[in-house]
Amino acid sequence: MAIEAIKKNIPCNNTLCQHKWYYEDLISGNGFQRVRECQNNQWKPYAMIDKHRPSKLAIQGILRGPILCWFHIMKTYSENLNNWNIPLQFR
Ligand SMILES: [Zn+2]
Repeated sequence: MAIEAIKKNIPCNNTLCQHKWYYEDLISGNGFQRVRECQNNQWKPYAMIDKHRPSKLAIQGILRGPILCWFHIMKTYSENLNNWNIPLQFR
């Protein structure tokens, strides 16, 4: 929801555009959202996530993709070294 709100409000690159926007009610009836008439749909960054699967699923399709944060990469790597019984001298 927050990512969609940002995407819907990025202005275009046209210097002659007035970048007009308007408010519209949410379909859910829980409020409203601001929508820019000219949207820059080229914005598709990567998003850094932890190992939270619902977050990963939520950003697929609307962003370029997820990147696992370094902490969780190293934590998973360490857990696998332990699970595979890799001797300490090879770590
Ligand atoms: Zn514009």
